[in-house]
Amino acid sequence: MDMDRIRAETPGAEQVVHLNNCGAGLMPRPVLDAVIGHLRLEAAIGGYEAEAAAADALANTYGALSRLLNCRRDEIAVMENATVAWDMAFYGLPLAPGDVVLTAVSEYASNYIAYLQRAARDGIQVRVVPNDAHGQTDVAALADMIDHRVKLISITHAPTNGGLINPAAAIGQVARAAGVPYLLDACQSAGQMPLDVEAIGCDMLSATGRKFLRGPRGTGFLYVRAGMLARLDPPFLDLHAAIWQSPEHYEMLPNARRFENWENYVAGKIGLGVAVDYALDIGLDAIAGRVQGLANDLRSRMAALPGLTVQDLGLEKSGIISFSVGEVPPGEVKATMAAAGINISTSSAHSTMQDMHSRGITAMNRMGVHYYNTEAELDRFMDCLRTIPA
Ligand SMILES: *Cc1c(COP(=O)(O)O)cnc(C)c1O
Repeated sequence: MDMDRIRAETPGAEQVVHLNNCGAGLMPRPVLDAVIGHLRLEAAIGGYEAEAAAADALANTYGALSRLLNCRRDEIAVMENATVAWDMAFYGLPLAPGDVVLTAVSEYASNYIAYLQRAARDGIQVRVVPNDAHGQTDVAALADMIDHRVKLISITHAPTNGGLINPAAAIGQVARAAGVPYLLDACQSAGQMPLDVEAIGCDMLSATGRKFLRGPRGTGFLYVRAGMLARLDPPFLDLHAAIWQSPEHYEMLPNARRFENWENYVAGKIGLGVAVDYALDIGLDAIAGRVQGLANDLRSRMAALPGLTVQDLGLEKSGIISFSVGEVPPGEVKATMAAAGINISTSSAHSTMQDMHSRGITAMNRMGVHYYNTEAELDRFMDCLRTIPA
Protein backbone atom coordinates (compact mmCIF):
# COMPACT_ATOMS: atom_id res chain seq x y z
CA MET A 1 0.00 0.00 0.00
CA ASP A 2 1.42 3.34 -1.08
CA MET A 3 0.93 5.22 2.19
CA ASP A 4 2.66 8.37 0.91
CA ARG A 5 0.24 8.69 -1.95
CA ILE A 6 -2.74 7.73 0.22
CA ARG A 7 -1.86 10.34 2.87
CA ALA A 8 -1.18 13.00 0.23
CA GLU A 9 -4.60 12.30 -1.29
CA THR A 10 -6.37 12.66 2.07
CA PRO A 11 -6.69 16.39 2.78
CA GLY A 12 -8.13 15.83 6.25
CA ALA A 13 -5.08 13.82 7.31
CA GLU A 14 -3.17 17.10 7.67
CA GLN A 15 -5.79 18.53 10.01
CA VAL A 16 -6.84 15.79 12.39
CA VAL A 17 -6.11 12.32 13.62
CA HIS A 18 -9.31 10.86 12.29
CA LEU A 19 -10.33 7.68 14.11
CA ASN A 20 -14.06 8.07 13.53
CA ASN A 21 -14.28 6.14 10.28
CA CYS A 22 -17.24 4.19 11.62
CA GLY A 23 -19.05 7.56 11.79
CA ALA A 24 -17.78 8.99 8.52
CA GLY A 25 -14.45 8.37 6.78
CA LEU A 26 -12.32 11.18 5.40
CA MET A 27 -12.99 11.67 1.70
CA PRO A 28 -9.94 11.25 -0.53
CA ARG A 29 -9.12 14.08 -2.95
CA PRO A 30 -10.55 12.39 -6.11
CA VAL A 31 -13.93 11.98 -4.37
CA LEU A 32 -13.93 15.57 -3.15
CA ASP A 33 -12.95 16.83 -6.60
CA ALA A 34 -15.69 14.80 -8.28
CA VAL A 35 -18.39 16.11 -5.91
CA ILE A 36 -17.27 19.73 -6.00
CA GLY A 37 -16.66 19.55 -9.74
CA HIS A 38 -20.20 18.44 -10.34
CA LEU A 39 -21.68 21.07 -8.03
CA ARG A 40 -19.72 23.70 -9.97
CA LEU A 41 -21.03 22.29 -13.23
CA GLU A 42 -24.60 22.45 -11.90
CA ALA A 43 -24.09 26.08 -10.95
CA ALA A 44 -22.53 26.86 -14.32
CA ILE A 45 -24.87 25.14 -16.77
CA GLY A 46 -27.93 23.95 -14.81
CA GLY A 47 -28.68 20.85 -12.77
CA TYR A 48 -30.42 18.82 -15.49
CA GLU A 49 -27.86 19.78 -18.09
CA ALA A 50 -25.02 18.89 -15.72
CA GLU A 51 -26.62 15.50 -15.04
CA ALA A 52 -26.83 14.79 -18.77
CA ALA A 53 -23.19 15.81 -19.18
CA ALA A 54 -22.22 13.45 -16.36
CA ALA A 55 -24.04 10.42 -17.78
CA ASP A 56 -20.86 8.35 -17.99
CA ALA A 57 -19.79 9.15 -14.44
CA LEU A 58 -23.27 8.29 -13.17
CA ALA A 59 -23.30 5.00 -15.07
CA ASN A 60 -19.88 4.27 -13.60
CA THR A 61 -21.30 4.40 -10.07
CA TYR A 62 -23.44 1.33 -10.83
CA GLY A 63 -20.48 -0.36 -12.49
CA ALA A 64 -18.22 0.35 -9.54
CA LEU A 65 -20.78 -0.95 -7.04
CA SER A 66 -21.34 -4.09 -9.10
CA ARG A 67 -17.58 -4.72 -9.03
CA LEU A 68 -17.48 -4.05 -5.28
CA LEU A 69 -20.25 -6.55 -4.54
CA ASN A 70 -19.74 -9.03 -7.42
CA CYS A 71 -23.26 -8.52 -8.75
CA ARG A 72 -24.95 -7.15 -11.84
CA ARG A 73 -25.34 -3.41 -12.41
CA ASP A 74 -29.11 -3.74 -12.57
CA GLU A 75 -29.15 -5.35 -9.13
CA ILE A 76 -28.06 -2.02 -7.59
CA ALA A 77 -30.17 0.93 -6.41
CA VAL A 78 -28.41 4.11 -5.27
CA MET A 79 -30.12 6.10 -2.56
CA GLU A 80 -29.58 8.75 0.08
CA ASN A 81 -28.35 6.53 2.91
CA ALA A 82 -28.12 2.96 4.12
CA THR A 83 -31.26 3.20 6.22
CA VAL A 84 -33.55 4.02 3.31
CA ALA A 85 -31.85 1.31 1.27
CA TRP A 86 -32.44 -1.25 4.02
CA ASP A 87 -36.00 0.01 4.59
CA MET A 88 -36.91 -0.39 0.92
CA ALA A 89 -35.95 -4.06 1.14
CA PHE A 90 -37.39 -4.79 4.59
CA TYR A 91 -40.67 -2.92 4.23
CA GLY A 92 -40.92 -4.25 0.67
CA LEU A 93 -41.04 -7.86 1.85
CA PRO A 94 -44.66 -8.93 2.36
CA LEU A 95 -45.01 -10.46 5.85
CA ALA A 96 -48.18 -11.80 7.43
CA PRO A 97 -49.20 -12.22 11.09
CA GLY A 98 -47.15 -14.98 12.70
CA ASP A 99 -44.31 -14.71 10.19
CA VAL A 100 -40.93 -14.75 11.92
CA VAL A 101 -37.88 -12.58 11.31
CA LEU A 102 -34.62 -13.94 12.70
CA THR A 103 -32.04 -11.37 13.68
CA ALA A 104 -28.85 -11.04 15.71
CA VAL A 105 -28.06 -9.77 19.23
CA SER A 106 -25.92 -6.95 17.82
CA GLU A 107 -28.66 -5.67 15.51
CA TYR A 108 -28.66 -1.97 14.72
CA ALA A 109 -31.34 0.20 16.32
CA SER A 110 -32.94 1.47 13.11
CA ASN A 111 -33.41 -2.09 11.87
CA TYR A 112 -34.78 -3.31 15.18
CA ILE A 113 -37.17 -0.36 15.40
CA ALA A 114 -38.47 -1.36 11.97
CA TYR A 115 -39.01 -4.95 13.19
CA LEU A 116 -40.96 -3.61 16.16
CA GLN A 117 -43.05 -1.37 13.93
CA ARG A 118 -43.98 -4.31 11.73
CA ALA A 119 -44.57 -6.49 14.78
CA ALA A 120 -47.19 -3.95 15.89
CA ARG A 121 -48.52 -3.25 12.41
CA ASP A 122 -48.34 -6.64 10.68
CA GLY A 123 -48.18 -9.07 13.60
CA ILE A 124 -44.74 -10.43 12.74
CA GLN A 125 -42.52 -12.02 15.37
CA VAL A 126 -38.91 -11.02 15.91
CA ARG A 127 -36.60 -13.68 17.27
CA VAL A 128 -33.04 -12.95 18.28
CA VAL A 129 -30.49 -15.65 17.49
CA PRO A 130 -28.13 -16.04 20.48
CA ASN A 131 -24.40 -15.44 20.28
CA ASP A 132 -21.83 -18.21 20.33
CA ALA A 133 -18.91 -18.36 22.77
CA HIS A 134 -17.04 -15.71 20.74
CA GLY A 135 -19.95 -13.26 20.85
CA GLN A 136 -20.88 -13.66 17.21
CA THR A 137 -24.19 -14.91 15.84
CA ASP A 138 -24.41 -18.63 16.61
CA VAL A 139 -24.89 -20.26 13.21
CA ALA A 140 -25.91 -23.64 14.66
CA ALA A 141 -28.53 -21.96 16.85
CA LEU A 142 -29.76 -20.06 13.82
CA ALA A 143 -30.15 -23.32 11.88
CA ASP A 144 -32.11 -24.78 14.81
CA MET A 145 -34.46 -21.79 14.84
CA ILE A 146 -35.50 -22.26 11.21
CA ASP A 147 -39.06 -23.49 10.73
CA HIS A 148 -41.85 -22.87 8.21
CA ARG A 149 -42.77 -19.55 9.87
CA VAL A 150 -39.33 -17.99 9.33
CA LYS A 151 -39.69 -15.62 6.37
CA LEU A 152 -36.54 -13.52 6.70
CA ILE A 153 -33.03 -13.70 8.13
CA SER A 154 -31.83 -10.17 8.71
CA ILE A 155 -28.53 -9.43 10.38
CA THR A 156 -25.81 -6.80 10.57
CA HIS A 157 -22.44 -7.86 9.20
CA ALA A 158 -20.18 -5.59 11.28
CA PRO A 159 -22.16 -3.96 14.08
CA THR A 160 -22.01 -0.21 14.55
CA ASN A 161 -19.87 -0.62 17.67
CA GLY A 162 -17.50 -3.34 18.79
CA GLY A 163 -15.06 -5.33 16.70
CA LEU A 164 -17.50 -8.08 15.83
CA ILE A 165 -17.70 -9.40 12.28
CA ASN A 166 -20.67 -11.74 12.02
CA PRO A 167 -20.19 -14.98 10.05
CA ALA A 168 -22.19 -13.64 7.11
CA ALA A 169 -21.33 -16.41 4.65
CA ALA A 170 -22.09 -19.24 7.11
CA ILE A 171 -25.44 -17.54 7.78
CA GLY A 172 -25.95 -17.36 4.01
CA GLN A 173 -25.52 -21.13 3.76
CA VAL A 174 -28.25 -21.66 6.34
CA ALA A 175 -30.51 -19.18 4.53
CA ARG A 176 -29.96 -20.85 1.16
CA ALA A 177 -30.49 -24.36 2.51
CA ALA A 178 -33.76 -23.21 4.11
CA GLY A 179 -34.85 -21.12 1.12
CA VAL A 180 -35.32 -18.10 3.38
CA PRO A 181 -34.56 -14.57 2.08
CA TYR A 182 -31.46 -13.06 3.66
CA LEU A 183 -30.97 -9.32 4.18
CA LEU A 184 -27.50 -8.17 5.21
CA ASP A 185 -26.75 -4.75 6.72
CA ALA A 186 -23.22 -4.21 5.41
CA CYS A 187 -23.04 -0.57 6.44
CA GLN A 188 -19.82 -0.90 8.43
CA SER A 189 -18.22 -3.68 6.40
CA ALA A 190 -18.49 -1.98 2.99
CA GLY A 191 -15.13 -0.40 2.25
CA GLN A 192 -13.20 -2.10 5.03
CA MET A 193 -13.33 -5.73 3.83
CA PRO A 194 -14.21 -7.65 0.66
CA LEU A 195 -17.94 -8.14 0.08
CA ASP A 196 -19.08 -10.75 -2.42
CA VAL A 197 -22.81 -11.34 -2.51
CA GLU A 198 -22.32 -14.73 -4.20
CA ALA A 199 -19.88 -15.93 -1.55
CA ILE A 200 -22.05 -14.51 1.25
CA GLY A 201 -25.28 -15.80 -0.25
CA CYS A 202 -27.38 -12.79 0.72
CA ASP A 203 -30.40 -11.77 -1.34
CA MET A 204 -30.40 -8.12 -0.29
CA LEU A 205 -27.59 -5.95 1.06
CA SER A 206 -27.53 -2.32 2.15
CA ALA A 207 -24.65 0.02 2.90
CA THR A 208 -23.73 3.66 3.17
CA GLY A 209 -21.25 5.73 1.20
CA ARG A 210 -19.73 7.87 3.92
CA LYS A 211 -18.21 5.37 6.37
CA PHE A 212 -15.35 3.03 5.40
CA LEU A 213 -16.00 3.62 1.70
CA ARG A 214 -14.92 7.25 2.21
CA GLY A 215 -17.70 8.55 -0.05
CA PRO A 216 -19.73 11.72 0.41
CA ARG A 217 -22.41 12.01 3.06
CA GLY A 218 -25.99 11.55 1.89
CA THR A 219 -25.26 8.46 -0.20
CA GLY A 220 -26.14 4.79 0.21
CA PHE A 221 -27.04 1.79 -1.88
CA LEU A 222 -29.10 -1.37 -1.99
CA TYR A 223 -28.34 -4.65 -3.71
CA VAL A 224 -31.31 -6.85 -4.61
CA ARG A 225 -30.65 -10.20 -6.23
CA ALA A 226 -32.47 -10.36 -9.58
CA GLY A 227 -34.38 -13.46 -8.48
CA MET A 228 -35.60 -11.62 -5.38
CA LEU A 229 -37.14 -8.71 -7.26
CA ALA A 230 -40.54 -10.34 -7.82
CA ARG A 231 -40.82 -11.17 -4.10
CA LEU A 232 -40.50 -7.55 -2.97
CA ASP A 233 -43.16 -4.87 -3.29
CA PRO A 234 -41.46 -1.45 -3.12
CA PRO A 235 -43.04 0.48 -0.21
CA PHE A 236 -43.45 3.48 -2.47
CA LEU A 237 -43.11 4.18 -6.14
CA ASP A 238 -42.66 7.32 -8.16
CA LEU A 239 -42.25 8.24 -11.81
CA HIS A 240 -38.62 7.07 -11.78
CA ALA A 241 -39.29 3.72 -10.10
CA ALA A 242 -42.29 3.06 -12.34
CA ILE A 243 -43.62 4.32 -15.67
CA TRP A 244 -47.22 5.50 -15.95
CA GLN A 245 -48.09 3.63 -19.13
CA SER A 246 -51.80 4.38 -19.46
CA PRO A 247 -54.34 6.23 -17.28
CA GLU A 248 -54.97 3.14 -15.11
CA HIS A 249 -51.68 1.35 -15.42
CA TYR A 250 -48.03 1.68 -14.45
CA GLU A 251 -45.08 -0.61 -14.85
CA MET A 252 -42.19 -0.82 -12.43
CA LEU A 253 -38.65 -0.68 -13.77
CA PRO A 254 -37.48 -4.22 -14.51
CA ASN A 255 -34.53 -3.96 -12.12
CA ALA A 256 -33.44 -2.79 -8.68
CA ARG A 257 -33.80 0.85 -9.68
CA ARG A 258 -37.48 0.50 -8.84
CA PHE A 259 -36.32 1.13 -5.24
CA GLU A 260 -34.85 4.51 -6.17
CA ASN A 261 -36.75 7.73 -6.59
CA TRP A 262 -36.39 10.51 -9.07
CA GLU A 263 -34.66 13.39 -7.33
CA ASN A 264 -31.28 12.57 -5.91
CA TYR A 265 -27.91 13.90 -4.88
CA VAL A 266 -26.27 13.65 -8.32
CA ALA A 267 -22.89 15.03 -7.20
CA GLY A 268 -22.88 12.60 -4.29
CA LYS A 269 -23.81 9.69 -6.53
CA ILE A 270 -20.87 10.48 -8.81
CA GLY A 271 -18.61 10.83 -5.77
CA LEU A 272 -19.81 7.49 -4.44
CA GLY A 273 -18.71 5.79 -7.64
CA VAL A 274 -15.30 7.47 -7.41
CA ALA A 275 -14.98 6.37 -3.78
CA VAL A 276 -15.80 2.76 -4.66
CA ASP A 277 -13.27 2.79 -7.51
CA TYR A 278 -10.71 4.29 -5.14
CA ALA A 279 -11.21 1.43 -2.66
CA LEU A 280 -11.15 -1.19 -5.43
CA ASP A 281 -7.96 0.31 -6.79
CA ILE A 282 -6.22 -0.09 -3.43
CA GLY A 283 -7.85 -3.51 -3.05
CA LEU A 284 -10.30 -4.67 -0.41
CA ASP A 285 -8.09 -7.55 0.70
CA ALA A 286 -5.19 -5.17 1.31
CA ILE A 287 -7.51 -2.73 3.06
CA ALA A 288 -8.94 -5.44 5.33
CA GLY A 289 -5.46 -6.70 6.16
CA ARG A 290 -4.18 -3.29 7.17
CA VAL A 291 -7.34 -2.24 9.03
CA GLN A 292 -7.46 -5.45 11.04
CA GLY A 293 -3.74 -5.36 11.69
CA LEU A 294 -3.85 -1.79 13.01
CA ALA A 295 -6.97 -2.42 15.07
CA ASN A 296 -5.79 -5.68 16.62
CA ASP A 297 -2.47 -4.16 17.55
CA LEU A 298 -4.18 -1.15 19.07
CA ARG A 299 -6.61 -3.32 21.03
CA SER A 300 -3.78 -5.13 22.77
CA ARG A 301 -1.98 -1.88 23.59
CA MET A 302 -5.20 -0.40 24.95
CA ALA A 303 -6.11 -3.47 26.99
CA ALA A 304 -2.73 -3.22 28.75
CA LEU A 305 -3.65 0.18 30.23
CA PRO A 306 -4.92 0.06 33.82
CA GLY A 307 -8.68 0.63 34.10
CA LEU A 308 -9.24 0.33 30.39
CA THR A 309 -11.69 -2.24 29.04
CA VAL A 310 -11.87 -3.12 25.36
CA GLN A 311 -15.51 -4.11 24.86
CA ASP A 312 -15.19 -5.87 21.52
CA LEU A 313 -16.63 -9.28 20.66
CA GLY A 314 -16.01 -11.78 17.90
CA LEU A 315 -13.46 -14.20 16.56
CA GLU A 316 -12.24 -12.18 13.59
CA LYS A 317 -12.44 -8.46 14.36
CA SER A 318 -13.14 -5.35 12.30
CA GLY A 319 -11.55 -1.90 12.47
CA ILE A 320 -14.15 -0.72 14.98
CA ILE A 321 -12.96 -0.64 18.58
CA SER A 322 -15.23 0.08 21.51
CA PHE A 323 -13.85 0.67 24.97
CA SER A 324 -14.46 2.09 28.42
CA VAL A 325 -12.01 4.10 30.51
CA GLY A 326 -12.97 3.13 34.04
CA GLU A 327 -16.10 5.05 34.95
CA VAL A 328 -15.19 8.09 32.84
CA PRO A 329 -18.25 9.14 30.80
CA PRO A 330 -17.56 8.41 27.10
CA GLY A 331 -18.42 12.02 26.21
CA GLU A 332 -15.53 13.21 28.39
CA VAL A 333 -13.05 10.86 26.75
CA LYS A 334 -14.24 12.06 23.36
CA ALA A 335 -13.85 15.71 24.41
CA THR A 336 -10.31 15.14 25.73
CA MET A 337 -9.39 13.48 22.44
CA ALA A 338 -11.00 16.29 20.44
CA ALA A 339 -8.95 18.88 22.34
CA ALA A 340 -5.84 16.94 21.26
CA GLY A 341 -6.96 16.92 17.62
CA ILE A 342 -8.14 13.31 17.67
CA ASN A 343 -11.60 12.30 16.43
CA ILE A 344 -13.35 9.39 18.12
CA SER A 345 -17.01 8.94 19.05
CA THR A 346 -19.36 7.41 21.58
CA SER A 347 -22.06 4.79 21.40
CA SER A 348 -25.01 4.21 23.68
CA ALA A 349 -27.44 1.37 24.31
CA HIS A 350 -29.90 3.20 22.05
CA SER A 351 -27.84 1.99 19.06
CA THR A 352 -27.47 -1.70 19.90
CA MET A 353 -29.78 -2.29 22.85
CA GLN A 354 -29.96 -6.11 22.88
CA ASP A 355 -26.19 -6.37 22.90
CA MET A 356 -25.48 -3.60 25.41
CA HIS A 357 -28.23 -4.67 27.82
CA SER A 358 -27.03 -8.26 27.75
CA ARG A 359 -23.59 -7.02 28.78
CA GLY A 360 -24.75 -4.38 31.25
CA ILE A 361 -23.25 -1.48 29.28
CA THR A 362 -25.11 1.81 28.87
CA ALA A 363 -22.51 3.73 26.88
CA MET A 364 -18.95 3.33 25.67
CA ASN A 365 -16.41 4.97 23.45
CA ARG A 366 -16.13 3.89 19.88
CA MET A 367 -13.63 4.44 17.12
CA GLY A 368 -12.91 3.04 13.70
CA VAL A 369 -9.38 2.91 12.30
CA HIS A 370 -8.84 2.93 8.56
CA TYR A 371 -6.00 1.99 6.23
CA TYR A 372 -4.96 5.63 5.87
CA ASN A 373 -4.31 5.95 9.60
CA THR A 374 -0.65 5.67 10.53
CA GLU A 375 1.16 4.02 13.42
CA ALA A 376 2.26 7.52 14.50
CA GLU A 377 -1.38 8.61 14.74
CA LEU A 378 -2.21 5.61 16.87
CA ASP A 379 0.75 6.48 19.13
CA ARG A 380 -0.74 9.95 19.55
CA PHE A 381 -4.07 8.38 20.44
CA MET A 382 -2.37 6.13 23.02
CA ASP A 383 -0.47 9.10 24.49
CA CYS A 384 -3.72 11.00 24.94
CA LEU A 385 -5.48 7.96 26.38
CA ARG A 386 -2.75 7.63 29.04
CA THR A 387 -3.52 11.17 30.23
CA ILE A 388 -7.11 10.22 31.15
CA PRO A 389 -7.24 8.86 34.71
CA ALA A 390 -9.43 5.76 34.74
C1 LIG B 1 -24.46 3.75 10.30
C2 LIG B 1 -25.21 2.46 10.26
C3 LIG B 1 -26.43 2.37 9.58
C4 LIG B 1 -27.14 3.56 9.02
O1 LIG B 1 -26.50 4.12 7.90
P1 LIG B 1 -27.04 5.51 7.33
O2 LIG B 1 -26.28 5.73 6.07
O3 LIG B 1 -26.78 6.53 8.39
O4 LIG B 1 -28.50 5.35 7.08
C5 LIG B 1 -27.02 1.13 9.48
N1 LIG B 1 -26.47 0.04 10.02
C6 LIG B 1 -25.30 0.09 10.68
C7 LIG B 1 -24.71 -1.16 11.26
C8 LIG B 1 -24.63 1.31 10.83
O5 LIG B 1 -23.49 1.37 11.53
